[in-house]
Amino acid sequence: MKYIDEFRDGDLARGIAAAIGRVAMPERKYRLMEFCGGHTHAISRYGIVDLLPAHVELIHGPGCPVCVLPIGRIDQAIRLIREQGVILCTYADTLRIPASGHLSLMKVRAEGGDIRMIYSTADALKIARENPSRQVVFFAIGFETTTPPTAVAVIQARQQGLGNFSVFCNHVLTPAAMHAILAVPDGVALDGFIGPAHVSTVIGSAPYEIFPKDYGKPVVIAGFEPLDVIRAIHMLILQINAGRAEVENEFTRAVTRDGNRKAQALVAEVFELRASFEWRGLGSVDNSALRLKPAFAGFDAEQRFGLAYIPVPDHKACECGAILRGEKRPQECRIFGTVCTPQTPVGSCMVSAEGACAAHYTYGRFRDAA
Ligand code: SF4
Repeated sequence: MKYIDEFRDGDLARGIAAAIGRVAMPERKYRLMEFCGGHTHAISRYGIVDLLPAHVELIHGPGCPVCVLPIGRIDQAIRLIREQGVILCTYADTLRIPASGHLSLMKVRAEGGDIRMIYSTADALKIARENPSRQVVFFAIGFETTTPPTAVAVIQARQQGLGNFSVFCNHVLTPAAMHAILAVPDGVALDGFIGPAHVSTVIGSAPYEIFPKDYGKPVVIAGFEPLDVIRAIHMLILQINAGRAEVENEFTRAVTRDGNRKAQALVAEVFELRASFEWRGLGSVDNSALRLKPAFAGFDAEQRFGLAYIPVPDHKACECGAILRGEKRPQECRIFGTVCTPQTPVGSCMVSAEGACAAHYTYGRFRDAA
């Protein structure tokens, strides 16, 4: 197949679904986690669950960068604006994540905070060049896909002598989160993972090899189109039936075993592992996030402004934590679709299109509520 619409061909999808129906053994369940929010969105958008037998269950994972950011991190960004008077540059979804005290970056902007919505790290550098008398902070979030552009921005800021630019780094790591999911005591029972698409173009398939080896869990890396996802499900079921646990790559048109070495080198030049980082839903996870290396400390907003992290519990009614661990479904939250909607998000899973709650709500996927 060559063109994107071929990966959305309904007849082909129904053909693969029929093949899944033939190989999925009725006497057992198949519990497959799609790690990535991009897959969660595709599954809801294209109604993939509706094509599957009832005993093939898809479980949403923590791979939505907006969803896993804890309230305390948004609070830190708000403190940067209110107490330090910085210009905060960020991507759009981050603006709507609920923070402490019924706040969000959107509300802080409405009260006069200087928050600029950007489309790339180059925009943040431009703002810093245009405002030499102001401190400009890029609120960097995301998994391995968005980390290389942040590394490039830091390198360019140093080359351009931008003393008023820094990064509030919240970049997190996919394999560490997968380990954390599998390590939860009495956590969700999984038979395999649908591996991320974009993340894997950067890190390659090799970092997932630990999961078959150490946990006996197969991983099939899949693209974001509906045929990619449904084919990956078929490949996982074939592995499980055969008693195999391997890393397989459905997304061969973009992912290799080694990934993008140039991007990896840029990340390695600028970032190092954080000893610990708090995730929404997973708690503090060792070596699961990045921070700037000492050589780039001058561009680290946490160091420049002496930012301390203060953990904050989620809203009492919010089930985002359990959803991000794969233990609950969006419809099991008692305020899903009533108090909490994409227009009035109470938890982070209702903010981004990749969030499980937002995806279920937007595409009306309530079948599995029963
Ligand atoms: S519906 Fe809202 S409050 Fe409930 S789990 Fe989802 S995001 Fe959190």
